[in-house]
Amino acid sequence: CGIFAYLNYNVGRERRYILEVLFNGLRRLEYRGYDSAGIAIDADLCSPAIPKKEKENGGDEEARRPPYGSAPPLVFRQEGKIESLVRSVYSDVDAMDLNLEQSFSVHAGIAHTRWATHGVPSPRNSHPQSSDAWNEFLVVHNGIITNYEVLKETLIRHGFTFESETDTEVIPKLAKFVFDKIRDEEGEQTVTFSQVVTEVMRQLEGAYALIFKSAHYPNELIACKRGSTLILGVKELSDDKNSGKLFHDVKALTKDEKPKELFFSSDLCAIVEHTKNYLAIEDNEVVHIKDGCVSILKFDSGREKPASVQRALSV
Ligand code: GLU
Repeated sequence: CGIFAYLNYNVGRERRYILEVLFNGLRRLEYRGYDSAGIAIDADLCSPAIPKKEKENGGDEEARRPPYGSAPPLVFRQEGKIESLVRSVYSDVDAMDLNLEQSFSVHAGIAHTRWATHGVPSPRNSHPQSSDAWNEFLVVHNGIITNYEVLKETLIRHGFTFESETDTEVIPKLAKFVFDKIRDEEGEQTVTFSQVVTEVMRQLEGAYALIFKSAHYPNELIACKRGSTLILGVKELSDDKNSGKLFHDVKALTKDEKPKELFFSSDLCAIVEHTKNYLAIEDNEVVHIKDGCVSILKFDSGREKPASVQRALSV
């Protein structure tokens, strides 16, 4: 099984190109074993978030409006080979009347090939797993969450309903629970994506690599890991910014100097075709991509809150 993500920043990419990068990432990871696959991409922000078919049937657009500004991310999941996912995505995209030529100046897509540990191979059990009908939080997961039963019981007590038999589904639902809780206590503007993910990670036990995408934080991605492998690839840093650069300093880069394309992958083999600049993410690190910048937090043993760390890129 494998996880993959592609984020383009300040460089226009068409929907078809974005889909192909995600599919190719999955094809490279196919050797790790799979029984199902899935992706999440952004919807057209200008159009209502309902498929054409429903519109024709008199869908109530107002009642369907999500509880945040943008259209919900689109999720496609399929049992079987990567190529059956590819076929079904193109056919769904066509049925939804989505334009493959539409260009996104910023876009964050995630992808997964599953090797089931909890729950049979099926579209419902495939990843990305979701927090709710609006896909407020989406997660792709490689590994096993050993304390998922306890977390699931707690979330059910708080009103969550589960759709899959996976251990993974507790993760996006826990993220929504944490987000709602902080928002209710402190107000929407103060909740940050990394605050949500670090709190979720603090509660998870097991071995895992995760990538989070959220409708509340469009154009951002967060990845973290304990046990499973995860690589970050960074494309198009200007030359003198490259070798041995402390990764943390990416924050200080000007708009033109920022990386234009970033990748997460379970294996370097899905990244090398795009860039040779990479970073092997270490256990207990939380990697946040926002505005073309990368920041890394790390949980040190015995510490409640993770601290910012500096890392050098391999080139
Ligand atoms: N434990 C998760 C599941 O069964 C993830 C399996 C994987 O690593 O693909 O859905």
